Amino acid sequence: MREFNEKLIQFIDASPTPFHAVVQMANELEAAGYQKLDECEKWELSEGSGYYVTRNDSSIVAFTYPPSLKGYTIVGAHTDSPHLRLKPNPVTKSAGTIRFGVEPYGGVLLNPWFDRDLSLAGRIVYVDGQGVRCEKLIDIKRPIGVVSSLAIHLDREANTSRSINAQTDIVPMMACGEEFDFESWILEEAGESSGKLLAHELSFYDVQKGSFLGIHEEFITSARLDNLLSCYVGLQALIHTKNPMMLACMDHEEVGSDSHVGAGGTFVEEVLRRIAGENFSTLMRQSLMVSCDNAHAQHPNFPSKHESEHAPLLNRGVAIKINSNQRYATSARTMGRFVQCANEIAVATQTFVTRSDMGCGSTIGPISATRLGVETIDVGVPTLAMHSIRELAGTEDAYGLYQILLHIGES
Ligand code: ZN
Repeated sequence: MREFNEKLIQFIDASPTPFHAVVQMANELEAAGYQKLDECEKWELSEGSGYYVTRNDSSIVAFTYPPSLKGYTIVGAHTDSPHLRLKPNPVTKSAGTIRFGVEPYGGVLLNPWFDRDLSLAGRIVYVDGQGVRCEKLIDIKRPIGVVSSLAIHLDREANTSRSINAQTDIVPMMACGEEFDFESWILEEAGESSGKLLAHELSFYDVQKGSFLGIHEEFITSARLDNLLSCYVGLQALIHTKNPMMLACMDHEEVGSDSHVGAGGTFVEEVLRRIAGENFSTLMRQSLMVSCDNAHAQHPNFPSKHESEHAPLLNRGVAIKINSNQRYATSARTMGRFVQCANEIAVATQTFVTRSDMGCGSTIGPISATRLGVETIDVGVPTLAMHSIRELAGTEDAYGLYQILLHIGES
């Protein structure tokens, strides 16, 4: 389990954006013998093989072939996490410094972004010295920006009533000076000094690496646990299970999933239709989708935010998410199957229901269930500080989820 968690932390550290996460997963799949498929080509699938296909380089679907009479276990997760995204024309000047303008991506918890050592990563599109349009993934890795707090002396109410304006208060400071040529700087960082920049999708992230924490090291603390943890667990399950499985790690969950690469789009359905042909409906009736996305663990300082009978605790097992209004897609049938499997291999589970007087989040579970017509269960690893720049989970729960996913296809 220690090694499993160490590799999980390494995977997240190496994946500051969905593009980088997809590269990591593709590399690991290649090493395990999986073959890359191209959506622009005809597919010839052979029995006993594994395949993967990417879209926009930010979503990835991988699968063993063929499915059995029990269909696939389809493990769903998402590659994106809330963060600050660079605006197209980022350079602004203030107080003798150069700042880069940002737009929040998804439901960012803004407070933790102050006083962090930030770097930039993502994708640029440019014309190279020969006039060819190119794309390149970049990760600057070293700290290059910071959103400094306003000192308490300049805001005596800071600890009681400070709020954050997303347009004006969280603009990272990048350099001293009055002039800054963003285009030549970013091309140089990409190793393409003679090119012409056309466009970019760049994300700020915290350079602090993930870590074990706690007197007995019983916690994992890292950026992007939501939901790269589930991507990693699903990937390990796919590679190591003996049962037919598909892994679908989708971009754009944090902004609603409606895009050509999101769970609301056509990607997974089109892959499944290519696999199954006219047997698509049968395959969907036989399959089970396990939508894996972190669950809110009960917070020791704010225990009343949960209802005591449905409050997942850290290191007490995978949380099964239930919502009578279908914000989570779990049914008694899918939960029964999941819990029986967990019981048979002696892995703990817990249940999560949002307090009835509070709003409820959602996942790609209900969206995928709707799009594909597949029975679905929503589960996730109990996590604190979700959507913070640094989140926290227990060391036992990711491994527990992995064990269940290995065996759920037999149940
Ligand atoms: Zn999530």
